[in-house]
Amino acid sequence: MSQILLAGGAGFIGSHTAVELLDTGYEVIIADNLMNSSAKSITRIEQITGNQLKFYQLDIRDTEKLEALFQENDISTVIHFAGLKAVGESIGKPVMYYRNNIDTTLSLLECMNKYNVKNIIFSSSATVYGEENPVPYNEEMKKGSCTNPYGWTKAMMEQILEDTAKSDKSMSVIILRYFNPIGAHETGLIGEDPQGIPNNLMPCAAQTAIGIRDHLTIFGNDYDTPDGTCLRDYIHVTDLAKGHVKAVEYAQKNKGVEIFNLGTGNPYSVTEIVETFEKVNGVTVNHVYGPRRDGDLPNCYANADKAMKMLGWKTEKTLEDMCRDLWKWQQMNPNGYKD
Ligand code: NAD
Ligand code: UDP
Repeated sequence: MSQILLAGGAGFIGSHTAVELLDTGYEVIIADNLMNSSAKSITRIEQITGNQLKFYQLDIRDTEKLEALFQENDISTVIHFAGLKAVGESIGKPVMYYRNNIDTTLSLLECMNKYNVKNIIFSSSATVYGEENPVPYNEEMKKGSCTNPYGWTKAMMEQILEDTAKSDKSMSVIILRYFNPIGAHETGLIGEDPQGIPNNLMPCAAQTAIGIRDHLTIFGNDYDTPDGTCLRDYIHVTDLAKGHVKAVEYAQKNKGVEIFNLGTGNPYSVTEIVETFEKVNGVTVNHVYGPRRDGDLPNCYANADKAMKMLGWKTEKTLEDMCRDLWKWQQMNPNGYKD
């Protein structure tokens, strides 16, 4: 089967996607500068699948090295995960975010054009729906205004990809809008490895349960939601990864641009998921309620019908699975890939 390039594939979502692609029979090439990941994820992917992959340690913006990679291989499809993703950091360092995220996209598109690679799948985010749209979000809705530079980079990259596909009718561009990916591979061998203090809820909850962090602060319990805490559409990273395999199959058979939400369609509150984590794992997550975090929306969840209808994809894992697998990863790798 054909060769798939995973730009930023050593990271959290890319590593899980590599496993699913290898298990389906695709050849996988990962290009990553490891700025937010570890080469250990590569050996773990090979350990899980019993298959080899090709790894290039390079910055996607380094067009000379990227071109050499395209020349040496026969790539059919690119999946573009490479980017910076910390919302808070993007507010303090907007130029770094625009430079890295936009440039990686442009470098990939230039190389694809030069080497006649026509299919690209892009990691976008539910954040592009902005504040204006009502939940559940569907792909027909106009993009809204983002609350931070990270979100704007996603909205801009979507536009760049759509314009590129308009100019070249032989291209296939698939934009995947992820909701809240959590959990880890069921083997506990690969998972999310946040550098420093985690920004996201579940890595923080798991680090608190294991004693790395003293407590979790739940940001706001005075929202207009059933228990006052925010609602999110948490999706198991393995389900998300499987959505990419479906997207690859779709891209190889169709042309033009398609946008798909990848979520479960079920909203859960912060308190609900923290309590589920405690219950299924028999642990305590010390938590306190604090003030709201700037930029958080009360409610964000997907209408996932389009992915079901057109890709034949739907989520299979439960909230309990997400919590159990995350805890397994945390216990087996208390310091992530560091030891
Ligand atoms: P991650 O940080 O674990 O993975 C991204 C990878 O890209 C890292 O391995 C990093 O080293 C690499 N990278 C970044 N810039 C690079 C560059 N210039 N050259 C080469 N490699 C580079 O993040 P993730 O959670 O796996 O997310 C993957 C993609 O999905 C990102 O684009 C992210 O914005 C998007 N996304 C993530 C979430 C989420 O909650 N995790 C939600 C929506 C969208
Ligand atoms: N959250 C929280 N405490 C934390 C981190 C997150 O209460 O330490 C809440 C956050 O306010 C949001 C939800 O958990 O309601 C999910 O946040 P996360 O940062 O994981 O993802 P987001 O939805 O912001 O992309």
